[in-house]
This record gives sequence, C-alpha cells and structure tokens, in this order.
Amino acid sequence: MPILSDKGHILVVDDEEAIVTIVRDVLTRAGYNTLAALSAEEALDVYSLNPVDVVLTDVRMGGMDGFELMRHLKLLDKDLNIIVMTGYDSYDTVLQALQSGAYDYMQKPLDNHTELLATIDRACSNARLVKENAKLIKELAGSHAKLSEANRSLVEVNHRLKKMASTDSLTLLYNRRYFDQVVKRELSRRNRYNLALSMVMLDIDNFKEINDTYGHEAGDDALKKVAEVISNSARTSDIVARYGGEEFGVVLPQTEPVNALIFAERTRAAIESESFYVTNEEQIKLTVSLGVAGANPGTIAIDPKSLITAADKALYAAKNEGRNRYVCAPPFGSDEEDHFKAA
Ligand code: GH3
Ligand code: MG
Ligand code: MG
Repeated sequence: MPILSDKGHILVVDDEEAIVTIVRDVLTRAGYNTLAALSAEEALDVYSLNPVDVVLTDVRMGGMDGFELMRHLKLLDKDLNIIVMTGYDSYDTVLQALQSGAYDYMQKPLDNHTELLATIDRACSNARLVKENAKLIKELAGSHAKLSEANRSLVEVNHRLKKMASTDSLTLLYNRRYFDQVVKRELSRRNRYNLALSMVMLDIDNFKEINDTYGHEAGDDALKKVAEVISNSARTSDIVARYGGEEFGVVLPQTEPVNALIFAERTRAAIESESFYVTNEEQIKLTVSLGVAGANPGTIAIDPKSLITAADKALYAAKNEGRNRYVCAPPFGSDEEDHFKAA
C-alpha cells in the first residue's frame, strides 16, 4: 500500500523489474507516491489512469523504447518532466534524451540514492512551479477580461453621463447648455467656410392658459409632444433643443434662411394639425409662433448673440402679428437687415 503524500507522483518505467522495485522503494521511503510500469506501453496505460508529476524511464526496452514513450507523453502534456535512465557508456543517448525534451537524466545503476532523490525532488518542484505558473496565467487572463469589461462599463457610463449633461430631461431634446455650444460651434464653422446657416426659435402660443386650465402635468405632456413634432419635422443634421420653458431652438447648418422658412412653415402646420390630450378624453389644439434668422453663404462673420437676438426678435414679431405664424429676419449682411435692426 503506497503512502499518499503531496510530495509528488512518480511513474517508474523499466523492463527490469529489479530496478523498478529498488527505485520505488527508495522513493516511497522518501515520501513519494510511486507507480510502476514494465514497458513503455504499460507506462502509457498507467499514465492515462493516474495523476503523474514526474516520469522516470529506462531507454532501452523491448517494444517501444524510452524515446518513443517520451514523444507520446509529451504529446499528452508538453510540460511533463521526464527523467531518462541511461547506461554508463551512453553519452549519445544522454544528448539525444535532452534534445528530445527530457527534463534530466540519471546513469544506472542508480547506486547513489541521495542523487536520485535530489533529481526527483528538483523535477517535482519544477513541475509544481510550472503548474502554478499556468494557473496564474489563466487567472491573469481572467482578470484581464474583467478589466476590459470594467473598462467597457466605464466608457458606457461616461457616454451616458455626457448624454445626460446635454439632454433636457422632460423632452429628451438637447438642453440650453448644449444648444449654446452648438450655436457657437456651427457659427465658427459657418464663418470659416463661408457657409449658409439658419436658426429657428419657436414658442408655444398662450401656453400659460393650458397650464392654468388643465394643470402643469397636462402642460408637460403637451410640451413633450410639441418636442416630438419639431424633431420629426427637422432633418437629422439639424439640432433641436429646448431653449427654455415652452420655447425651442433649432440650428440648421448649411441652410439658407429661405429654406429655413420651409422648415418653419412645415413645423407650424404640423403642430396646428396635431391634437393634444389634456385629460383622458379631452383633446385640444395648440399653435406656435416662430422666428427665423440666418445667413446666406458669405464672408460676413456672425456671432452667436447677434444670431439668437435676431431669431428672438423675429419670434416676437410673429407674436405681435397675431401668433401661429413665422417671421423671418432679413439674412445677415443684406440691405434689409439694417432696416430690421432699426425697427
Ligand atoms: P405667448 O403666446 O405670448 O407665448 O403666451 P404664453 O402663455 O405661452 O407665454 P408666457 O411667457 O406668458 O407663459 C409661458 C408659460 O409656459 C409659463 C409657464 O406656465 C409655462 N411653462 C414654462 N415652462 C414650463 C414647463 O416646463 N412645464 C409646463 N407645464 N409649463 C411650462
Ligand atoms: Mg409662449
Ligand atoms: Mg415663452
């Protein structure tokens, strides 16, 4: 009955039974678990059925020799430590064994038991280290995957935070802060490349009445729906934002004011034709007034404040002229502009 211990499992292979017996005896007494095989073929069977840390094998055996056995074992586990037992006069065999991947060699008749144990001990320690290393690499690969996952989440969270910072929570349109940035960015692009650019400011007519009559919640629902209608009316390249309370701003890059008017009218008509639920059963109609301002392609530089002021002024004019309409400020740089400014 072999003593079970953690020192290592050694498979001893030799077709001379006497050698196997002596080696096993020495190793077992030193606390190793030993397994025996009297041929390479038997060794492969034993190996396949038992845990083995180190193989100690004879070279010259009937049937498959030690090299052939080593080749087979290395295919099963390339890290397996195999120690070859050779005769006294076999320098070439030692060389061949080491070149074939043997971990170490010992010369028969293995009289020096201290050396035998030292060699086996070294091979076992090495096997343990190789195993430990493989485990660490596996764990590292796992933690790398975890790290990438954490990194992905971080990117996702940052993306969401960034989106939140630029989104109006009620309508999910861009907010005023983002709108101001866009106006600045698009205007500098427009000024640099002499492009057209327009802005539309939109305000719901008599909105206070909705709140006063049906309550703030009904007002909020109406605001959301108006936001939706404006978004659907705009092109994907246009930037639609909630500018404040019930006022919306739209930047239309590379769009001449004359074309922004088409957008303004389309939006006005779309809202006019929409019905808004203010209670579960009751629907009402809403209208909006719009102010359009912008510039044709040209060299005159426009600043954000002037553009927003012009659009606001046009919106104010639309309110004054009776609401549910748009007014367009004369394009920047045109003769009418000076006239409009003076009004
Ligand atoms: P006008 O046609 O001149 O624009 O009239 P108005 O009533 O729409 O304009 P006014 O500026 O007098 O009132 C705007 C109202 O919009 C005031 C407020 O009750 C309402 N309002 C502003 N922000 C919100 C909001 O976030 N939710 C709701 N429900 N109402 C809002
Ligand atoms: Mg209003
Ligand atoms: Mg208003």
